[in-house]
Amino acid sequence: MNKAIFFDRDGTLVKLVWRDIKNAHTAPWNREEFEVLPGVGDALQKSSNAGFKNLVISNQPDILDGFIQPEDCVYFSFYLMTTFAIEDIFESYRRGAWTYKPNPGHVDIAKEKYNLDLKMCYFVGDTWKDCVCAALRDIPYVHIGSNNPIGPVVHRSKSVAGAVDWIIADDNDEV
Ligand SMILES: [Mg+2]
Repeated sequence: MNKAIFFDRDGTLVKLVWRDIKNAHTAPWNREEFEVLPGVGDALQKSSNAGFKNLVISNQPDILDGFIQPEDCVYFSFYLMTTFAIEDIFESYRRGAWTYKPNPGHVDIAKEKYNLDLKMCYFVGDTWKDCVCAALRDIPYVHIGSNNPIGPVVHRSKSVAGAVDWIIADDNDEV
């Protein structure tokens, strides 16, 4: 069986963008705004070298809301998968869908597709939806950023680089 790290995309691997009209941060809405956070590429290479499959699980509601062109979202995934050590990207578009976090549908799909042992997996994210999604499948959750995770957290880190270093150390600790 295989082990994986599930990564959230926006706010975890990719920089969020502030929107006055929403009074909130959101995903990038076009190619000019799309920016991978510092240290992410090296961190993904490290976890891949440590034997983890890097799998991205992302909610993308802004497409149906008309803020993102579908072809731009395809481009973002194409760019991420061809530039970094990412094995697969799972996107969900409709709020409430069984694959839309916090629902764990994409974890279940990934488990079958990649023959994963979820007990050897980790989840890295920046919001409560990631935290609850991980908790629903008993996956240790590492939280980055300053949002309140609302749920069990095994570690907190400022960045994906810190999260991956902690995970590799924790994984090596297991007997
Ligand atoms: Mg996020």
